[in-house]
Amino acid sequence: MILSQFQTVGHDLFTKGLVSSHSGNLSIRLGERIIITRRTSRLGCLQEHDLIETGINKNDRNTPLASIELAVHRAIYRETPALAIVHAHPPHAVALSLTETEIVPSDTEGLSIVERVPVLGWHMKVKAGGLADIIAQALKQHRIIMVHGHGSFAIGQLLEEAHNCTATLEESCQVICLLKSLQVSPAEK
Ligand SMILES: [Zn+2]
Repeated sequence: MILSQFQTVGHDLFTKGLVSSHSGNLSIRLGERIIITRRTSRLGCLQEHDLIETGINKNDRNTPLASIELAVHRAIYRETPALAIVHAHPPHAVALSLTETEIVPSDTEGLSIVERVPVLGWHMKVKAGGLADIIAQALKQHRIIMVHGHGSFAIGQLLEEAHNCTATLEESCQVICLLKSLQVSPAEK
């Protein structure tokens, strides 16, 4: 049951191009425990052994096997009521994260689902697992945030909900990029 939720969302993220072969990670919260995808797992074809269960506050022998973003997932569960997290690399959203400090959808669906999306980590050296506290604080007010030049972290009560937020943000960012390109081309003639 839990595996099939991870498989459905992981496969969908991969086929939509929201993660590449080994990027992205997913987790759910079960009380004081977290079930998170394995380090270097492929979200497009997750198997039982790709789901790692460890503590939200305590390390155990499984902890080193967890995704390299474990620290971020743990901080989010400590600071927000989230029960599921999706971290992805949606390409249009990543492109805009390199030029904007906030992404505001132009389309109505994007506006209603993701609203305003802050871009965190400007002028900071960001490595995997970094910015955990800053991301967790921002997700108290937002359902999804972008990390500058890296990717998205979305929360929900279910993986499906966080996935929907991620896909909606990417669609909105495609529209923003199209609008930008339309505005640029007449001036270039
Ligand atoms: Zn990433």
